[in-house]
Amino acid sequence: MYCPVCQASFRAGSDWKEGDTVVCPVCGQRLSLRATGDGWTGDRVDKGTEKEIRDRAEEFARIRGYAFNDMKDEIIEGLMGKMTRFGDFYCPCRMEHGPDYQCPCKPTRGGDVETNGRCHCGLFWKQ
Ligand SMILES: [Zn+2]
Repeated sequence: MYCPVCQASFRAGSDWKEGDTVVCPVCGQRLSLRATGDGWTGDRVDKGTEKEIRDRAEEFARIRGYAFNDMKDEIIEGLMGKMTRFGDFYCPCRMEHGPDYQCPCKPTRGGDVETNGRCHCGLFWKQ
């Protein structure tokens, strides 16, 4: 199973059914399952909406055990701005607009929060 947000592949569940929602274990994206000839594809649930990025951030923080602080709403607003201007939820405090900087960005998925205590933008914090 391939995640269209973080481009990671993860193992399909044996009990998956068409239309089920699964959470990408790498980035926290919610994906609606669709069967294809050779496996599953996942459509982004609530694609492009504030709900999508809020749910993704919540799931990612839950999976990793991270916390938010009072910067959260401001950063979500910045992410919405990136969606409007650049077509996806790229880091609000960087100038890069490629798949590696889709929130949660590649450095964050790779453990930046453990190293620095927070992600670059300050959305995710080490507890
Ligand atoms: Zn993902």
